[in-house]
Order: sequence, then structure tokens, then C-alpha cells
Amino acid sequence: MSLSDELAVRLRERESRGLLRRLRALEDVGPVVREGGRTFLNFSSNDYLGLASDPVLRTRLDEVGIVGASASRLIVGHLEEHERTEEALATFVGLPRALLFSSGYAANVGAIPALVGPGDLVLSDAWNHASLIDGCRLSRAHVEIYPHANVDALETLLRAHRGSARHALVVTDAIFSMDGDLAPLRALADLARRHDAWLYVDEAHSVGVRGPAGAGLCMELGVKPDVLLGTLGKAFGVAGAFVAGAPELREWLVNVARSFVFATGFPVALLPVIRAAVAAVAAADDRRNQLARHADRLRQALRELGLDVPGEAAIVPVVLGSNERALAVAGGLRDLGILGLAIRPPTVPPGTARLRLTPMATHTAAQVESVIEALRSFG
Ligand SMILES: *Cc1c(COP(=O)(O)O)cnc(C)c1O
Repeated sequence: MSLSDELAVRLRERESRGLLRRLRALEDVGPVVREGGRTFLNFSSNDYLGLASDPVLRTRLDEVGIVGASASRLIVGHLEEHERTEEALATFVGLPRALLFSSGYAANVGAIPALVGPGDLVLSDAWNHASLIDGCRLSRAHVEIYPHANVDALETLLRAHRGSARHALVVTDAIFSMDGDLAPLRALADLARRHDAWLYVDEAHSVGVRGPAGAGLCMELGVKPDVLLGTLGKAFGVAGAFVAGAPELREWLVNVARSFVFATGFPVALLPVIRAAVAAVAAADDRRNQLARHADRLRQALRELGLDVPGEAAIVPVVLGSNERALAVAGGLRDLGILGLAIRPPTVPPGTARLRLTPMATHTAAQVESVIEALRSFG
């Protein structure tokens, strides 16, 4: 069978299980978006603060007069612009140094295997993001998955396995991307310290959204992780990611993280945009408050409708169970002009397909109410 015939069979099989995913081309980003001439209220982006379409950020695109980095950072693709931006990012999260990666995915699959390997132990939350899971696998360390946010179970695993491992790394999302709940970071930090383990916190959904001036959940809780990952494509509205920590961490990753070493340097044209985004995020307390109000209202109203709405963050999941049910509700919302997309396995465990609603600071209260009304109208 030809490759394309074989893939056609596989695609039909996926479709029959309600698992086929399709790309949909939109005409813009923001709280309201257009697709094929229709407008939709957008409750599915990670652009929490509305910065992806911010006119001030856009004006910075032309600032350096250079587009690409021309080589990997270790060859001739490292510019002063990169250093300046990494300094701003480190300052933003209150850690000594930071290193840019092309994406959060690239950062996690590069940094984790740079830190641990065969003979070491990794303890990973069962609900961690796919990029953390892949980073753990690539490391070839001994990986133990602890039940979601279960500190007692984690301690049991540390007691059982820490002794036979050289180094141990505890890996967790700060805010879980499909459930909108928070990791017990203080307890994890305390446990890591007592068992001589390092703590790796993925703040993809919390930098810019939580903490003083948006510095993240670790800062909010007074936790100092050994490794902090922040993304720049979500609340910052741009692209890319950074890993922050000690000066030695940055120097080690520069030498060893394969997704850094063997990749072209971060696009230069985006660096002034990122610094402008850092400044905008730091000054965005009003937007963060508005975002929190929208999320609280949405969560509370949907719970009053009897829906299963876990979590407490700006991610508002509505767990519906089967893929078919999640697709039907998402389709119903779409018919009413609202994008609230269905999230299915393997992104979430089988049987927990859901809508994942994410308000933006730039939504109006009336727009939030219209989502609630739409879901109410489905009974
Ligand atoms: C989105 C996300 C990533 C990946 O970041 P990108 O910059 O989009 O590649 C990593 N970790 C978590 C928890 C995420 O939600």
C-alpha cells in the first residue's frame, strides 16, 4: 500500500473514534475573531492579556532591522539583543539568569535531558504537559509518575527510589493546562529539599498571569525553583520560551541542551517585541484583575448550571466525558458564534473530554455572559 493510502486508512479510523483533528484558518487573533467571513467570540486562546494583537508590541517588530539570527547561538547567531532580552526575562521572574528557546516544547525536551540521565530519578506529575513527558522520556532517567498533585504519594516514591539514584528531579506544571488547577508548589519545594531533589516548575500558564507584576506562581507563593520554565507565546502574546535559574544552569544548558545547541538562534526581530511584552505584562495589573474576574464569574456560573468545572485558574474546563458529547457541545457553541474548543484524548485522559474555556482580559463582561447563556440554553 502506498504511504498516502495507508495514511488515509489511519485517518478514517481516527475519525470513526471522534479523534480526528482539523486545522481551521482564522483571519485574526483576539477576543473576537473571523473565520470565513463569520465572526466568533474567542474563548479558546492562551492570549490571556490580549497582547498578541497589541499595537504597541507590533511597532517594535522593525526596531533592529534584522529578521533571523543566521546561525545557532554558539556559532554566529548570538546577538547583544539576545543577552538584553534574557536579562529582562530573568529580572522579570526574579531569578539570576535566563536562556531563550524557540518554544516551550523545545525548552522542556532540551532542558530535562540536559539535567538528568541514566542512573538518575525523575518524579513527574501524572497530568504534566506533553512536552515535560517527552523531556522525561528523552532523558533516559528512571521516571516515576506520581498521582496528580499528590504530595504523600510523591514522598512515598522518593523514599522508595531516591536512595538508588544519583540525582533526583521533581517536575511539575505550575498551573495544569487542561484542568486549570495549581500544583502544591510549597509542599513540593519542601519535599524536594528534604529528599535532596531538584525542583523543575513549568510556568507556561502562570507567568504574566499570576504573582506580583505577573512574575508567576513561584513568586506568588515564595517558592524558589531550581529550574523555571516560562513561555512567551501565551500571556506575553509573542512566541518562544525561556528557562530561568542560577548562572550555572544557563551556562550548562548553553553547552548541553540539544534543542538550544542544534537550533538557529531565536529570531532577532522578535526580541524587542518580547522586551516590550515584558514591560506590558509587568504593568498589566488591571488586565490581570479583569481576567480573574471573568474566570471567576464563568466558573461559578457554570457550576451553578450543574456542570463539572474543576480548577481555579484562568483556564475554565467543562468536563463532559465522551468525545462525542464534547464535540457536540463545542459544535453547538460554534453555531452560536462562540469558539470554545473540545479537548480530547490524548491531550486529556480517555473519558474526560471537555470544553476548555479561556477568557481574556480584553473580553467584556457581556461577552462572558453570552457564553454562560449559550451553555445554559443547551440545558
Ligand atoms: C503550552 C505549554 C508548553 C509549550 O509551550 P510552547 O511555547 O507553546 O511550545 C509547555 N508546557 C506547558 C505546561 C504548556 O501549557
